[in-house]
Amino acid sequence: MAETYKGEAYCVKCKEKRQFEGIVNVSDSGRRMAKGKCPVCGTTVNRILGKA
Ligand SMILES: [Zn+2]
Repeated sequence: MAETYKGEAYCVKCKEKRQFEGIVNVSDSGRRMAKGKCPVCGTTVNRILGKA
């Protein structure tokens, strides 16, 4: 089951931090990343959460 994340991420298009809600992915190296969309422009934003 997918874990969700709610918080801030930097949008490269707006050049500002945006509140977003996304899905947490765990990479092969065990790094957790939240992936979502900027609510303003719709660009994909990522936030590295670090190791679990
Ligand atoms: Zn944006």
